[in-house]
Amino acid sequence: MAFFAALLSLLLSLTPGLAPSQGAPAPGTANVTVVLDDAAAAEGRRALPAVSGARGSNRPIVVIDPGHGGHDPGATSPIDGIREKEVTLAIARAIRDELARSGRVRVALTRDDDSLIDLRERYEIARQLGATLFISIHADAAPHNDDAQGATIYTLSEIASDREAALLAARENAAGVIGGADLGADLGVNRILIDLAQRESMVQSAQFARLLQREASPLVPFRQDYHRFASLIVLKAPDIPSILFEAGYLTNAKDVAFIESPEGRARIAAGMRRAIETHFARRLTRLTER
Ligand SMILES: [Zn+2]
Repeated sequence: MAFFAALLSLLLSLTPGLAPSQGAPAPGTANVTVVLDDAAAAEGRRALPAVSGARGSNRPIVVIDPGHGGHDPGATSPIDGIREKEVTLAIARAIRDELARSGRVRVALTRDDDSLIDLRERYEIARQLGATLFISIHADAAPHNDDAQGATIYTLSEIASDREAALLAARENAAGVIGGADLGADLGVNRILIDLAQRESMVQSAQFARLLQREASPLVPFRQDYHRFASLIVLKAPDIPSILFEAGYLTNAKDVAFIESPEGRARIAAGMRRAIETHFARRLTRLTER
């Protein structure tokens, strides 16, 4: 795997249009980074968000992405009318503050106000920052099944794991998409390199999903089948392990009470911190053992 990563990194650095992205890769992270979108970045994109947490440019950066925002409210709770965009921002801020307090990683939010960001721009922000982990926060809704309860973790797959996952992807992908081709579609011969990086990221994403459930389940209720797969646009950064965390169901009274309470959010944040810190500690160990 080390040889493979090194080879891919070399190929990417030699391929025109695929210069290494800003920011040196953090220790213990895959150093497969590519910049695909310099021109778009130069055209009036919003400024990159503030990074908080650990000092030192060698610390890994995690980007937390509060789903929805602005004129896209996401799901609305039939129980108390709260909107998904508010829930996701509150949870994301709790996770950021928890990580910043702990000080082992650096952390940034894709949005820290009520603005709407295009799905592809969300992971592009992470890429521009040189992030090595991307976590999109959402809250689920099952209007015809108020028994549906607990958190779910989604990772990328072109084929949905089940009908519910396919419907969720259709809903989430419709949110805030301005258009544009799939990432890397205009790169021609480079497509194969992108695919290789994407495959490695998908493996790491699935590993992180399992780790997150293990670390957070003593604190946060999860669905029994907690890990699902779907073709979610926001997870398509080819070079950053990415998950989408559905914190619970806005259609379930217990979940709403949990998600909206400061204690519930603190539990989610603590579970995330444990998983994130373990993830990077493992990667660092693996790197130093080589
Ligand atoms: Zn959502």
